[in-house]
Amino acid sequence: MTWISSHYKITKDAFESRYYGDKESLRSIARSLEVSQGPFADVLRKAGMQLRNPKEADLAAIETCSRRTYAVNQQFFDTWTTEMAWVLGLLAADGNVGDALPNVSLVSTDIELTDKFKQAVGYTGPVQWNPHGEFHVVRIFSYQMANRLKQLGITPRKTLTLQMPPVPPEYLSHFVRGYCDGDGCISIKRAKGRFDKLAVRLCSASEDLIDQLHTALIETKILCRKRLLPRPDRERDQYRICAVGYDAFELCEFMYQECPDTLCLTRKRQVYLDYAALHGWRYTNGPIRNRWEKKPCVIDGCTGLVHARSMCQKHYSRDWKRRRRAQ
Ligand SMILES: [Zn+2]
Repeated sequence: MTWISSHYKITKDAFESRYYGDKESLRSIARSLEVSQGPFADVLRKAGMQLRNPKEADLAAIETCSRRTYAVNQQFFDTWTTEMAWVLGLLAADGNVGDALPNVSLVSTDIELTDKFKQAVGYTGPVQWNPHGEFHVVRIFSYQMANRLKQLGITPRKTLTLQMPPVPPEYLSHFVRGYCDGDGCISIKRAKGRFDKLAVRLCSASEDLIDQLHTALIETKILCRKRLLPRPDRERDQYRICAVGYDAFELCEFMYQECPDTLCLTRKRQVYLDYAALHGWRYTNGPIRNRWEKKPCVIDGCTGLVHARSMCQKHYSRDWKRRRRAQ
């Protein structure tokens, strides 16, 4: 028997088969020999062994890890479901897929979101609190999930380049709700002496995502506008999708029509529900107007198209002036 050294009682062959063959970690080998890891590594390097750097060591550890510390549904992103579409929207907004390591993480200031995310993917691990940034983090290690998310377009360092995932039309509402829960805002615009308006905004630093999301919403007949918000004080501009008033109400109805309690941020939904309870009658008592179909003006020979009134603007104002004169 030729030991590596008199102090470290392991042969070179035995070490190689454990370290390279079984990909056992240096720490665990050192522990089994009851020696310290640092000096052991120095001796091995002097003996001409190539040791793994920290990144490779992490990858080896994940590869050899036959049983998971925390359970998770690794097939979660493989098929489209309501839960999956919502979580994907959430990750598109506030998620991150690791570059070097196969991890998927969600960052949020709302503990409710991280909890519901955990519940949806069946993760039993902890939610970590980051006191410096003051946010909660859920980080899941899984090759399968990370790879599938990369296929779906949630790539590492996605902020500026994020593309809209290929969401099937039947799951679009859940995806949009997930995105809104992450990077959106539902608010009420107070106007003095006028009807308070509901407003919905979805934000992103990626112009492509906002473009594609806007197109998808318009295709489902939800009116909204794209806006660029220049931010000279920051590194990058922000792109937004905005809907105000009736459009916002329609967008909210679209998002929340088939929404289970477990798949939304209660705080945001409550703004919409409160508003609908107060002012909803204006909208739910049948549509005010059909904004997608225009009718011709009722005056003979006029080619104008109208949607709200019976007459075009020109004939309506002529008629209105005539009626006022008659009073
Ligand atoms: Zn007319």
